[in-house]
Amino acid sequence: MKDIQELKDLNAKQLWHPMGHPGDLQANAPTIIDRAEGVRIIDLDGHETVDAVGGLWCANLGYSNNVVKQAISDQLFKLPYYSSFAGTSNAPAIEAAEAVVNFFKEDGMARVFFTSGGSDSVDTAMRMARQYHRLRGQPQRIKYLSLKKGYHGTHFGGASVNGNQRFRTAYEPLLPGCYHLPSPYTYRNPFNESDPAKLAQLVAQAMEDEIMFQDPSTIAAFIMEPIQGAGGVIVPDASFMKLARDICDKHGILMISDEVITGFGRTGDWSGARHWGVQPDMMTVAKGITSAYFPVGATLVNATIAEAFESDQSGEGSIYHGYTYSAHPVGMAAVNACVSETLRLDLKTNAAARGQQLHHGLLALQADFDIIGDVRGGHGLMAAIELVSDRTTKAPLDMGAIKRAHKATYEAGTMVRIGGSNLLMSPPLVLTEADVVKILENLRSGLSVL
Ligand code: PMP
Repeated sequence: MKDIQELKDLNAKQLWHPMGHPGDLQANAPTIIDRAEGVRIIDLDGHETVDAVGGLWCANLGYSNNVVKQAISDQLFKLPYYSSFAGTSNAPAIEAAEAVVNFFKEDGMARVFFTSGGSDSVDTAMRMARQYHRLRGQPQRIKYLSLKKGYHGTHFGGASVNGNQRFRTAYEPLLPGCYHLPSPYTYRNPFNESDPAKLAQLVAQAMEDEIMFQDPSTIAAFIMEPIQGAGGVIVPDASFMKLARDICDKHGILMISDEVITGFGRTGDWSGARHWGVQPDMMTVAKGITSAYFPVGATLVNATIAEAFESDQSGEGSIYHGYTYSAHPVGMAAVNACVSETLRLDLKTNAAARGQQLHHGLLALQADFDIIGDVRGGHGLMAAIELVSDRTTKAPLDMGAIKRAHKATYEAGTMVRIGGSNLLMSPPLVLTEADVVKILENLRSGLSVL
């Protein structure tokens, strides 16, 4: 093993990181995470922090769940891989399908297709939506609607419905036929509307307007996150997803609930759609499905979609889509163990309680720090503070200052994440009351250096 300084120096010489500038990363060594215990991570210098990022909104069980680790290890020795392309299957996959479909039964889900992650799941859903309409004799339904500020991964389909310019421009032209609606983001929106319920109505009207403009019979699907995550933890009004559901129903448009972050308890309910009392037509999940111990994602569909594919006699219902690692036996063993641990530990209930505690603590911080322009969260363990240099103009705080606050928070003992001018938090769902207190204390220290 190379020594610490050598590793830091070497890091970006060959390694290109997601979501970073390769040149900058050569100039600035990263924090190298060495090991983890419970909800804490320890870097190569031996500095221990509470991981308020949960890896990347994903380590729901924390880092020390031995049931999941053992299941992965056992499966690795029994059958490390075999393909699930039509013709072969494996027992863990059959069991995982049952576990995942049962988990989302209340959301109306009936079938599952496994992938290697969130981006895969989104592109799978987008493709299956088109194929579904084709099977139903509506091959002209090819367009997609989504929300600005949404994040749906970085494959071409997901990036095309992505609602954040920084993930788009360098990779254009993206998929044609993708149209974006305003985000239900009360702090900043083109309607200058700060009342969440009124804003939900306005976005719904914009949705109707865009659908009529496009011609409803050309639209395949509308995709949304029940709570927008990477875009800055934007919590819509409780009425919003229902309004969107009704509009989709009215026009025969499929609703895809992108639950890559919100699935498996993060919102305080087992799914984000359930949190808002909505049944989508399709769901995309990843992250919490294995607590990130193994890369797995899934796309789920309801019984109507299942029926359209399964009853097809023409052959057009064949799914010519899939991944080498779809239903990977080791991943499936991880899913089985993770789903049962998630239920056994009732992660959603802890997420709801700790989420409230964190939210109230962040609101208290806002009272003491003018640079906190907006506090968002309160629905499970997803939180953001938006940093501004002036509360009246809402001018974003400069990135240098945000980085200084981030670093000082880390040095004080908590890892948070920068997303635009937000500090984002999505800690493991096994977080304790004392851990939340520590996160809040460390954030206070971090913000105090500015
Ligand atoms: N959808 C949502 C809502 C996400 O938050 C993410 C990742 N953060 C993705 C899709 C993409 O997932 P992945 O990074 O696993 O491809």
